[in-house]
Amino acid sequence: MSESVNIYIAEPRGFCAGVRRAIALVEKALDDFGAPVYVRHEIVHNKHVIEDLKNKGVIFIDDLSEMQDKTRPLIFSAHGVPQSVVDETLKQGIKTIDATCPLVAKVHNQIKRLYKNDMEIIVIGKPNHVEIIGTIGQIPPSAKLHVISKLEDIETLEVSNSQNIGFVTQTTLSVDDTKEIVAVLKQKFGSISEMKKDDICFATTNRQKAVKEMAKEVDLCIVIGSKNSSNSKQLKEVALKNGAKEAILIDDYQELDFTSLKGIKNIGITAGASAPEYLIQDLLYQLQKYYDNINIIPIKVEYEKVDFKL
Ligand code: SF4
Repeated sequence: MSESVNIYIAEPRGFCAGVRRAIALVEKALDDFGAPVYVRHEIVHNKHVIEDLKNKGVIFIDDLSEMQDKTRPLIFSAHGVPQSVVDETLKQGIKTIDATCPLVAKVHNQIKRLYKNDMEIIVIGKPNHVEIIGTIGQIPPSAKLHVISKLEDIETLEVSNSQNIGFVTQTTLSVDDTKEIVAVLKQKFGSISEMKKDDICFATTNRQKAVKEMAKEVDLCIVIGSKNSSNSKQLKEVALKNGAKEAILIDDYQELDFTSLKGIKNIGITAGASAPEYLIQDLLYQLQKYYDNINIIPIKVEYEKVDFKL
């Protein structure tokens, strides 16, 4: 291949502090208790991480009824769980380890505070996403609650007391879309403006910021991440909205059709918060083999030094 290419690499990218902590907790459980250990839901949304942990003796389940040996430890995923799941494990005497990201736990506390103050609650997020199910599950089903995921949902939104509303958001949404939704909510319900700002986490924000910078320069943006990873999907959308001519979300380089790179001179690369760095390095290695000459250009927007304690 006698072509040269500019490869823009977003920084930060890949694993965030919450994902690192969740995986470390599973690995520590394997060390401390031996295999198997159970994890409720995928610990983080990444195919490679899940396969690797399965090989080490982790059994992933979606429901407690799937636990064949209830004397083994059960780990809650980084996305958090409804209170009913915690109650059920206590009732059944199951030993649990909570890998809920501290930033998701913060949203849980916020929704509980709103409920305690007898407020009507608007949840901005994808209704069936596991994080939103866990967040809503922090408060009783009798709570006055509305889940919205897009601007149009506000048009039909009716609340019983517009003077007494609060909102929380999923941590991995599009920063720009959510800003827009919050602005329209504030227009419609003036008093909501007193509430705290959205809960989108620093890792989601930083990764989207880097992609926005990078998107202006590239013909193709490659996002490494799994299709069920909310923040990875958002990175692809952010790239398309901010100038990338094309964007793809792939689990690894093996999903990349190298013949489609013909004529492309500027490629951007990033990874969702649950995607391991080695997948990016593998992709770079393959691109180096494909092109005669590659010019690597880092697009660094933030230095992330956050780490969560186990
Ligand atoms: S993306 Fe944000 S909220 Fe989700 S695990 Fe990472 S740090 Fe936590």
